[in-house]
Amino acid sequence: MRRILGDIADLVLGRCCIGCEAAPTLLCSTCRAHMSGKAMIARDLMFHDVSANLRIPLAVAHAYAPPLSTVIFKYKDNHIPELAHFLANLLAGAIEQIQSHTGIPTAGTYLIPIPSRSGSVRQRGFDSMGLIARHLMTSGYRTVDALVDHRASGRSKSLNVAERQFAALNAFHVRSDSIIGQLSGCRVIIIDDVTTTGATLREAAELLMQSGVQVIGCASIAGSRKRL
Ligand SMILES: [Zn+2]
Repeated sequence: MRRILGDIADLVLGRCCIGCEAAPTLLCSTCRAHMSGKAMIARDLMFHDVSANLRIPLAVAHAYAPPLSTVIFKYKDNHIPELAHFLANLLAGAIEQIQSHTGIPTAGTYLIPIPSRSGSVRQRGFDSMGLIARHLMTSGYRTVDALVDHRASGRSKSLNVAERQFAALNAFHVRSDSIIGQLSGCRVIIIDDVTTTGATLREAAELLMQSGVQVIGCASIAGSRKRL
């Protein structure tokens, strides 16, 4: 029913597919199929500061390239919340890669989203990562809003690698001691929409590990395979 209503809305609004600009729907089945089923472990993130040779897998659902980069841009900057469900499904594929890579089952694992930048939430009028996390919850995942963002506002895209890594320092704090209590003894996977250097995920993982939380992996919808 939702699909039919969506199709009617597309006709009324004159939408065409974000991916191929050909099919008269928001995101056509060919483009969806092209982006699905490609989740993989992109690389390990290293945490020598926490413990010698500590490495944690980073899974990405797809390369950060068209059409996915366009879909994410439209979702966030053009505020098309109808795309959240599809993006959440892609992210679930990356999360499953961590489960199979580590052999640790989904049950008993919490997902911790990288919070949307507070400046972006104000500017866009919606919390893009929060909405994806809510879709994951309806799919049966347990998510905990454990991190508070205090990154400087501004667009990370305009930063170079060194600036981005510097900006990731002290980017977050843990929301409350009670959340740490809730997570102690549990395994967590940190989730984000796009990762390039991995610096943001590393910062969040390190903060949580130093608070005593067991981080078993990081998962992102889109990611480059650029090495740190
Ligand atoms: Zn298409």
